[in-house]
Formats: sequence, C-alpha cells, structure tokens
Amino acid sequence: MGPMLADIVDYLICPVCRADLRLAGATVRCAGNHTFDVAKQGYVSLLTGSGQPGTADTSEMVAARAAFLDKGHYAPLADAVAEAVRAHLGPENVPAKHESCTETNDGAELRAYRGTEVEAGSGAAPAGGEQGPEAVEGHRAEGRTAPVIIDAGAGTGHYLAAVLDTVNDGIGMAFDVSKHAVRRAARVHPRAGAFVADVWRPLPIRSGVADVVIDVFAPRNGPEFRRVLRPGGAAVVVTPAPEHLSPLVEELGLLSVDEEKERRVARSLEGFAETGRRSIEFEMELEPGDIAQVVGMGPSAWHHQANTLDQRIAAFVSRNVAKRQQKVVTHAAFHLSIFEPAHRSRSVP
Ligand SMILES: [Zn+2]
Repeated sequence: MGPMLADIVDYLICPVCRADLRLAGATVRCAGNHTFDVAKQGYVSLLTGSGQPGTADTSEMVAARAAFLDKGHYAPLADAVAEAVRAHLGPENVPAKHESCTETNDGAELRAYRGTEVEAGSGAAPAGGEQGPEAVEGHRAEGRTAPVIIDAGAGTGHYLAAVLDTVNDGIGMAFDVSKHAVRRAARVHPRAGAFVADVWRPLPIRSGVADVVIDVFAPRNGPEFRRVLRPGGAAVVVTPAPEHLSPLVEELGLLSVDEEKERRVARSLEGFAETGRRSIEFEMELEPGDIAQVVGMGPSAWHHQANTLDQRIAAFVSRNVAKRQQKVVTHAAFHLSIFEPAHRSRSVP
C-alpha cells in the first residue's frame, strides 16, 4: 500500500481488541493477530461480525449519489462544510510547526486562514534577513502534526475531499458501513484513507486524535465523536432542513424531514455544546435523470418499492415536460452546526 495508509494506520485501533494496528504487507494487523485485508482498491474493512449491516447503502444507491454529486448539484454545501472546517482549524488549532510551511502551492490561502505571516518560499531571501525561530526544517519531520479530519458516514467521500482540498496538509479518514461507498471513498483524495466500519458501534479510531469530525446526513455517535476528538476539536454536522427537496418531496411522496429532527440531533450529541450554526439554501435545476438520482440516493430509496417510485418520477417528469419545463427547480436546504465537547477544559495539553 501507498504511504498514505501507512501514515493513517497509526490513528486506528483494532475493532476487536482495541489494540494498536499496524500495516503488515497487504494487511492491517494488531498485536493479538486480528488481521484485516487491504482491498485492492485501497480501503480496509474494519467491520467485525458477519456480513454487512442491513442499513448499508446498496451499490445502486451509491452509484446514484456519486452521479448526482459529480454534477455539482450540492457544491454549495460541500463549500460550506469545507469553510466550516477551515474556520475551526484557526491559528490556535494549527500546530506551530506547520505555520512555517512554505512548500504548498496554495500557500497564500493557507497563510490567510491561519493568520500567519510567513513569506512564500521563493528562494529569494531578503538581504540581511534573519531566519526566524520557526525555520522550515521542522516540518513533518517530527511526526503527526497535520490536522486530522474524520468523516463519519462518509458515503463516497465527496465532502471529505472538498475539505481536504482546502486544508492543505490535512489528513482525512472516511468511515462508512457500505463497502460500495468506501470503495469510491478510497480514491476520492490522495490524502484520504477509507474504511468500512459501522458508525453506530465503537469506532476503530484512537482517542483524542481528530481535529474535526464531519457528519453529513449520517448517524451521530456522540460518545464516540467525543472520545476521538482532541481537546479543542469539533464536530461539523449537516442535516437536511424540512424544506429540503421541495417540491419533489410533496410531488413524489418522499420521506420528509420532520420537525423533531433538530431535537434528535441535539439528543444524539449529548455532552456537546452547539457553538455555531448556519442555514444553507439554494435552488437546483434538475433534469429528469437528476431527479431519479436524488431520490435514489436518499432514505426514500429504502421505503418505497423501486418500481412505484420510478412510476411516480416518470409521471412527474412527463407532467413537467408537457409544461415545457425540461428542468425542475428544486430547493436544497440544510442546517450546518458546529458542536464542541462541553465540560472539558480547553487548556488540557
Ligand atoms: Zn486485535
């Protein structure tokens, strides 16, 4: 396996005995010899027990989601998630060693959000300039200082990739219970690793290693999120708002987001304080194929007979096409919240 998994494996623990894991050839293994194969696609299944849980996304659902997201329909949401993570990784959360990093192409952007004033590494040192105390040499040499971002219920890794694109040296870990999703997530970004794991169960992640856990429409395992976050870390949680996918929800009889949703989110993250919150709303122009995909990737795909839903979509599309509307304007509406562990001193080293 490539260098990325070799780095990331240090953050993982055995899902059976909780011992450290290490890379051994084409497997990942603990001292107790629990062994997990590295798939040829580059991901590792850390599921225990037999078979996939029944709630894993099917290959059809994953394909629909990938096709829909690849068209950029949810790009404003991906941007918002990336922005939230970047904002959280403010100067105080970025290891000092990294502030001297001058090797990246996007150095200006990196410095802007970290608030540092390091000159770009042009090679032309100012005459008589002294080398600052934080010289470049310490970069990465001393090990794990890059921000670690965990995507719990990552799906195809779409949002994690958007985050890693804007956090220049961030390391990403995608966890999802669907091997079909994880197979795609394994290829989504050169700085991401992907693992099959059930987010409802104890996560195969060391305690206190994550700068940010992102959770986009996924199960929220509050106690585990709290355990894996390092002091000063946060969870970035996205849920659909009640108006999401209007008017498709009404027209197609899809599952709608109930008003209790917000309360359930708060309950699932007991022990956290919501320290930030914004709404993200935009309009999408969906073609008939997009409509089938956005329906097929969501929870309604579970709750309807596929052919019933297909018939409804066909009828809806033909009604709209008859009205000379080739595209259906559909509303997208989400809540994005920042949750930070409460009752924990931020001065813990
Ligand atoms: Zn083990």
